[in-house]
Amino acid sequence: MHVLLRGRAAIITAASRGIGAGVATVLAREGADLVIAARSLDRLVELAKRLSSQYGVSVIPVRADLTKREDVRRIVDEAMRNFGRVDVLVYNTGPPKPGTFLELSEEDWEYGVRLLLLSAVWITRDVVPHMIERRQGRLIYIASITLKQPLPELTLSNVIRISVAGLVKTLAYQLGRYNVLVNGILQGYVDTERIREVAAERARRSGVSVADVIREMEREIPLGRLAMPEEIGELVAFLASDRASYITGSLILIDGGRTMCI
Ligand code: NAD
Repeated sequence: MHVLLRGRAAIITAASRGIGAGVATVLAREGADLVIAARSLDRLVELAKRLSSQYGVSVIPVRADLTKREDVRRIVDEAMRNFGRVDVLVYNTGPPKPGTFLELSEEDWEYGVRLLLLSAVWITRDVVPHMIERRQGRLIYIASITLKQPLPELTLSNVIRISVAGLVKTLAYQLGRYNVLVNGILQGYVDTERIREVAAERARRSGVSVADVIREMEREIPLGRLAMPEEIGELVAFLASDRASYITGSLILIDGGRTMCI
């Protein structure tokens, strides 16, 4: 029986599919009650039903576009209304538009900043006062390997996400005295719909097939394969648990050994 997070209340954003859904699955398996948020309600409702019937936890779906301030506010409000507290925030977001610097418009940049940075700032502002009040909390920001190793066609991710590293370090410093622990996750290639979109973009630019691009990605990884979303979930569950009581301010790579810098 899994009980790592029994009785905890967690929020997971951008959770209708991919990494967010994988994290939700592992946290539910470990006994956490969840608020899961994303733009479209259909998939969220389906996931919430599956997880609550499989693991006997409460899972509340919330429709929210992370680029809209009022939607973000609703996520924490729903968690407080249903559970009366938030023990864990897992911040995940939608993928930014790919493209080289000159291909991106000023609107793309503004949307990218809302999607990859402001949404993190907003939800953190909403959740932290509740954690400080209870002298307890875990903030876990799912970012990207691009913080360590920029990827050629992902300009918005390369440039904007780096600020999440500053957010993690700053919050860890300022919130440690309240027993709020803050960490970031730098995942490499994960087997989701998004990675297939990135592969399709790379295939289009280089004139090879999507399957060849995926094989090339796998060749770059010492473990020889993409991660499964649930493998990111296992790391999140550990960081959210009592077992990770002395880890804060860390940016943790989970990339099958792909990144070679120390
Ligand atoms: P995905 O496309 O499979 O899933 C994205 C999720 O984000 C979905 O639930 C979608 O509904 C939600 N979403 C999109 N835009 C949103 C918005 N404006 N508001 C609220 N929810 C929104 O993507 P994924 O592979 O699970 O990636 C999750 C995050 O991790 C993305 O930011 C992605 O760029 C990043 N990332 C992914 C990989 C990878 O290999 N898959 C690697 C590094 C970083």
